[in-house]
Amino acid sequence: MAKALSGIKPTGGLTIGNYLGALRHFKNYQEDNELFIFVADMHALTLPIDPDYLKKNIYDIVALYLAAGLDPKKTVLFRQSDINEVGQLNSIIANYIYMGELSRMTQFKEKSRALNNKEIGVGLFTYPVLMSADLLLYDTEVCPVGEDQVQHVELARDIAKRINSRYKKKIFNIPHAVVSGVGKRIKNLQDPTKKMSKSDERGSKGVIYLIEDDEKSIRKKIMSAVTDLGTEVKYDEKNKPGISNLIQIYCTFTNKTIEEAEKIFADSNYGNFKKCVADAVLNELLPFKAKYEEYRSNMDYLNSVLLDGAERARKIAEVVLKRVRSTVGLI
Ligand code: ATP
Ligand code: MG
Repeated sequence: MAKALSGIKPTGGLTIGNYLGALRHFKNYQEDNELFIFVADMHALTLPIDPDYLKKNIYDIVALYLAAGLDPKKTVLFRQSDINEVGQLNSIIANYIYMGELSRMTQFKEKSRALNNKEIGVGLFTYPVLMSADLLLYDTEVCPVGEDQVQHVELARDIAKRINSRYKKKIFNIPHAVVSGVGKRIKNLQDPTKKMSKSDERGSKGVIYLIEDDEKSIRKKIMSAVTDLGTEVKYDEKNKPGISNLIQIYCTFTNKTIEEAEKIFADSNYGNFKKCVADAVLNELLPFKAKYEEYRSNMDYLNSVLLDGAERARKIAEVVLKRVRSTVGLI
């Protein structure tokens, strides 16, 4: 039995990228592992965000977790900021991470560029430190994430190894990332060279939102996705990024391999192919959305899930932090 942990930031409406790269896989860890899934609300502050929007997003994510099949009796479902210990661990481990390491993080570079390299909060720079604290505080061994987060998990590994070796004992487990197969990096439908992200401009045509988009708008977004020159439905990320992205989406929703999809659509034009992609997406998302709505309307239940999750998470966090404090000499 391994300890598995992952989280999603409440920075905006979740996308099918979040669903295929992360959310959809979580329940697979529920039976045979000790699973911790959290709402990464402190991470959401790394870029400016409206407080009411943030509050709403937090509950949206809890309801999405439940709709995705997470059972709060088995999985510890909690909110990052409910656990004070994470702040203290963050301050401690920050001393063992180098500025150079943080400067090399791709996400930091991309998100700073989006701010035109102006008024970049220190929290954005140190985001991977807090993420390492999230991982290490719950003795994580396995972290299911999309491909874009692998670099951060690797940093957490390096830090854990560094601290263990400095004090010559096993203070931390060494976490490792597990990335899903085909759905690991879904691209923006209007710019398939770019990752689909929930913090892209709100209401973007290139992003499919799990909650905000209804059947009609999901179909419309897929039918008007940017495609490539030529007519063949063939996977070729370099020369056909648009079609390759749609094949990825189709394959993940239908559990087919890329070869199988290419065979099915060998004689198909782009229009027909896109219609089948939309059908595959909706076939899974419509019942999922209905479940979500049911959970989302029950605020008392969502609050009770968070309360119970925080209590359970805190119990583990206290033990680990105590171990760290005594090792580094804070007692
Ligand atoms: P933000 O723009 O705020 O960073 P995001 O869409 O990247 O939002 P995160 O909260 O950073 O979402 O990530 C949540 C999870 O979703 C992570 O495991 C991440 O790897 C995964 N993920 C995010 N975008 C994609 C994508 N386009 N394809 C596959 N997985 C993704
Ligand atoms: Mg992200």
